[in-house]
Amino acid sequence: MPEKNSPTIPAADRLSLSSGIWPSTATENENGALVLGGMSATEIAERHGTPVYVFDEADFRNRCARFRRAFEGFDVYYAGKAFMSRAAIRMVEEAGLSLDVCTEGELAFAKAIKFPAERILMHGNNKSTEELAAALDYGVGRIVVDSFAELDRLRELVPPFPGARPNILLRVTVGVRADTHAHIATAHEDQKFGFSLVSGEAAEAVRQVLRDGVLELRGLHSHIGSQILGTAGFEAAAKRLLELRAQFVRDGAALPELDLGGGFGIAYTPEDEPTEPEEMADILRTLVAKECAALGVDVPRLAIEPGRAIAGPSGVTLYTVGTVKHREGIRTFVAVDGGMSDNVRTALYDAAYSVRLAGRASDAPLQLVRVVGKHCDAGDVVVRDDQLPSDVRPGDLLAVPGTGAYCRSLAHNYNQVPRPPVVAVADGASREIVRRETIDDLLRLDVG
Ligand SMILES: *Cc1c(COP(=O)(O)O)cnc(C)c1O
Repeated sequence: MPEKNSPTIPAADRLSLSSGIWPSTATENENGALVLGGMSATEIAERHGTPVYVFDEADFRNRCARFRRAFEGFDVYYAGKAFMSRAAIRMVEEAGLSLDVCTEGELAFAKAIKFPAERILMHGNNKSTEELAAALDYGVGRIVVDSFAELDRLRELVPPFPGARPNILLRVTVGVRADTHAHIATAHEDQKFGFSLVSGEAAEAVRQVLRDGVLELRGLHSHIGSQILGTAGFEAAAKRLLELRAQFVRDGAALPELDLGGGFGIAYTPEDEPTEPEEMADILRTLVAKECAALGVDVPRLAIEPGRAIAGPSGVTLYTVGTVKHREGIRTFVAVDGGMSDNVRTALYDAAYSVRLAGRASDAPLQLVRVVGKHCDAGDVVVRDDQLPSDVRPGDLLAVPGTGAYCRSLAHNYNQVPRPPVVAVADGASREIVRRETIDDLLRLDVG
């Protein structure tokens, strides 16, 4: 496989803070240190330690607003699993976006900040009765049902919630193979999510819900995967959903909504070229209008569920270098004080990341490096291949951009390494929004 981060891009462009892989407030100070939200990486590291996830608050708020504007007329649900914290979902709420949760735990965060229930949608491919009851009890706006077993569970739960005819969507597996890593492609036939379209399962589920009238079927849902850079997969999925919908609309069913899920990709390296939200919105709007006209049915209200595309670019992880090993004729390994416990995406999805020196300037020539962690696993890689100045040494601060989504939320404690804090920066000030885990926290869980 060609190495994605091969050094074909000129150094000046690679390091450029305006290349779309850094948060919008990123600059450099007179010492060559990275500045985020008006605070230098050096100050952030001194105050909060490393590793640390830095959350650029203005960048996050602006991106929420940008999606809201670009997708005017859509319901925009922030997918909370990308990065869930009370502070973050408060910002989501303030920006007027809605929220997608998929477990009772994520719902608990929404409840903790009194996120308006009608703007919450609940997902999950194996929701327990307790989770469904918690969702009904809070009065969430939409439940996306994933299986016949779940339809049964939900129907049985309805009586204790009189007056509530729960609004549901049915998750359809449309048979589109998204152009992304196999672990995050979710709409081809051979996977666990939803009702299959080709087998007729999805149509059967629609008929069943319409027939017994216990649940209010608002429409169909599809989520084709994650980190998708083009538009073809979304277009194919929308067409298939619309064709299925039209069969029932022609017979008099309303199905007023259509949810196209999330999955919009972001730039992790200068080689990634994501579709801008405005362009994506235009393409989807036009396509849906055209298809509906061709099918002779009304246009449903559209929804999307971006997670990564909102939270991802707002996050930068800062690490301190501990060792540098030059393996002659092979490569240089730069080991940092975190690793696969704070960013498992490289190991899990073969994800590509970028890195830069964050605490000082350097005129040394660039060299190809691999940034690795401190875990006892050869797969413990943070940045597979990128360039750093050849004088990189222990004590240097490094910054890895694009870590705002699926890093803290997928973090774990391998080797009993405590998870880093999330520090929000804005206007030259910083505050912890998720505190650093301590070894005492880990010991407290072990009650034996
Ligand atoms: C994960 C997920 C999302 C968000 O995906 P992103 O790639 O972060 O945009 C949206 N909807 C569903 C159903 C998901 O599972």
